[in-house]
Amino acid sequence: MIALSLAEIASVVGGQTYDIPDPSVQITGPVVRDSREVEPGSLFVAFVGERVDGHDFAAQVVEEGAAAVLASRPVGVPAIIVDDVQAALGALARHVVERLGTTLVALTGSAGKTSTKDLIAQVLRRKAPTVFTPGSLNNEIGLPLTALSATEETKFLVLEMGARGIGHIRYLADLTPPKIGLVLNVGTAHIGEFGGREQIAQAKGELVEALPEGGAAILNADDPLVRAMASRTKARVILFGESGEADVRAENVRLTESGQPAFRLHTPSGASDVTMRLYGEHHVSNALAAAAVAHELGMSADEIAVALSEAGSLSRWRMEVTERPDGVTVVNDAYNANPESMRAALRALAAMGGASRARGGRTWAVLGKMAELGDEALAEHDAVGRLAVRLNVSKLVAVGGREASWLQLGAYNEGSWGEESVHVSDAQAAVDLLRNELRPGDVVLVKASRSVGLEWVAQALLEGA
Ligand code: ATP
Ligand code: MG
Repeated sequence: MIALSLAEIASVVGGQTYDIPDPSVQITGPVVRDSREVEPGSLFVAFVGERVDGHDFAAQVVEEGAAAVLASRPVGVPAIIVDDVQAALGALARHVVERLGTTLVALTGSAGKTSTKDLIAQVLRRKAPTVFTPGSLNNEIGLPLTALSATEETKFLVLEMGARGIGHIRYLADLTPPKIGLVLNVGTAHIGEFGGREQIAQAKGELVEALPEGGAAILNADDPLVRAMASRTKARVILFGESGEADVRAENVRLTESGQPAFRLHTPSGASDVTMRLYGEHHVSNALAAAAVAHELGMSADEIAVALSEAGSLSRWRMEVTERPDGVTVVNDAYNANPESMRAALRALAAMGGASRARGGRTWAVLGKMAELGDEALAEHDAVGRLAVRLNVSKLVAVGGREASWLQLGAYNEGSWGEESVHVSDAQAAVDLLRNELRPGDVVLVKASRSVGLEWVAQALLEGA
């Protein structure tokens, strides 16, 4: 946060100061909404949640050193009172970003936002100080709070934007207006809530509609619904992808024996080779997206290639590969799942299996349901079960209820799989089975939607070794 006095903040957000003895006092700590994160000089933002009312913590946070509270009613301690705390937080974030002259990069998409945001941040921070949303903090509260954590040094701000429906990204892009907007893909994530891919494209495209004339819209040339968003923006369009028309593209894409993508990166300013530390071919697309952003911000192909080759995952449970002392490899991709990411993860497993098979190892896909697929749920689970067979995965362990039985049935129908696929009712049963069966050289992929909580299986396998 830059130094701002309480009087300045009140004026920016159109609020009233209450119980503030000295309005020239400056905010010197972070702006936070969680009372546990308050530091001396903080501004505490009081939201009224479903279970907790931030106003109840006002006295406590001031006791702990907060300079004041941004609130919707007087709380008996120094406060700036506004009608709408959410809108005030956005106005403050915009003011700070404008004053700092920070370049805002926003990205959205159905799958890979957090992975790509982490890649962009790791590439850009080689050039200049970069602030980015931690984890998946991609909503109307997380974005302005992240923007407010920028300082005088911050050059780039990288923001993940999640869309829950039509109008949502427009709202987020208004709270923290990006100069560069990136759309990764339009998949089937949350398709049940949205009603269809066209609606998802409509919602995600709001990001490029919000860009200014001098901005850049970075679009996936390989995804027709994203490519078509070019007509919805005033900004300059930059395409990334494997397609020949892309401005930033990959050639000679392959997976190394360990399942890590390698390719030749082409940008308008040159070409350079990349071998990633991250696993899974889906990261090629994410890396190209990050390269397009970095190119736009003045980095050379060589600089970008080195940064992409050295980038690791910053967020948990996304293709986390750990080899146990006994030679069993656990791939924890249990953060989330949708049809696209299931396919990508299975392909990475198959590539890793190529190397392990030579050592007598097998590949295991421990999969649970993909949530929020609406009418497509049966067909999508069936297709994933079939793909496991076609990729020559050794064993499928389907965990959970109905969706798991669809996964297993797909495998059965594709390859007459009997013993090769097992359906177990819960995570504990999966762990029991795997503990008995795993042997050195085996590679185990664990993946399902967030609500299934399959990371527990991966953790149990690693701890129990
Ligand atoms: P959320 O909406 O939950 O915030 P997200 O869009 O931020 O998700 P990530 O957290 O990066 O996405 O990845 C979610 C899952 O999708 C992971 O399992 C990851 O391996 C996979 N994934 C990452 N990038 C892609 C991609 N480009 N295409 C398909 N799947 C991907
Ligand atoms: Mg995310």
